[in-house]
Amino acid sequence: MSVAGKHAVITGGGSGVGAELAARFAAAGAKVTILGRRMEPLQQVAAETGAFAAVCDVTDRETLDAALAEAVAANGPVSIALANAGAAPSKPFEKMATADFEAALSVNLTGVFNLWQACLPGMKAQGWGRLIAIASTAGLKGYPYVSGYCAAKHGVVGLTRALAVELAKTGVTVNALCPGFIETPLLQRSLDNIVAKTGMTGEQAARSLRRGNPQDRFVQPEEVADAALWLAGAGAGAVNGSALPISGGEI
Ligand code: NAP
Repeated sequence: MSVAGKHAVITGGGSGVGAELAARFAAAGAKVTILGRRMEPLQQVAAETGAFAAVCDVTDRETLDAALAEAVAANGPVSIALANAGAAPSKPFEKMATADFEAALSVNLTGVFNLWQACLPGMKAQGWGRLIAIASTAGLKGYPYVSGYCAAKHGVVGLTRALAVELAKTGVTVNALCPGFIETPLLQRSLDNIVAKTGMTGEQAARSLRRGNPQDRFVQPEEVADAALWLAGAGAGAVNGSALPISGGEI
């Protein structure tokens, strides 16, 4: 069984890893839906991939449910739910307000819960499904100045492991991908922030982050998308509850 003909929903599908997931899954014959808060980038990816696009905020269950209802009407029941939407705001721990911490949890962790819970009944009805999160190496180790993001991504790994066991006999597998720094708009915003806060040049900032990867490079979005495509395919049916690093050996 391949992903051809299956409905794959991708949150944060308008940019970075999400746009690449849309391209790869569409090229493999999946019916693709992309979700995000801004229609403009979604429309651009939709034009390139043939994906169905709908606006929603993954932290708001009502808007997410409404978008998923449109997606199911367009593409049929969801078989593959790729929880990719995320944000990595940075601040020293002592300067974080409770609201900063909650915002990091909301998009990076509750957003995964919302998508997976909304899609699960349809998968159970089909007796087949793939719940896949784009977590992070920040779900497996700590980094300074992103404690809320690290807490959320560790939470995604915990959610993945628990749900994998809970659903093991349903035909639905649950897995997390844990990339290191990936060359995307999110990374660029982090680099801009380092430049603004430290006075480093852009290249110095990039070098300081690249150094954490033993391959001395940034992971490419297509390397994450290829791993997701494999997890969604037939050969990965026994892979369940994994948190797979894609980090050049960083972890
Ligand atoms: P990106 O280009 O900034 O993409 C993030 C996407 O999420 C955007 O398209 C954004 O679209 C969407 N999004 C953000 N908040 C949302 C919300 N509340 N509701 C719906 N959509 C929302 O960043 P990326 O690097 O591709 O990140 C994709 C995933 O990879 C994230 O989970 C990130 O944590 C993870 N990751 C990234 C790196 C890295 O170095 N780049 C490393 C490891 C893991 P809108 O703004 O239009 O909503």
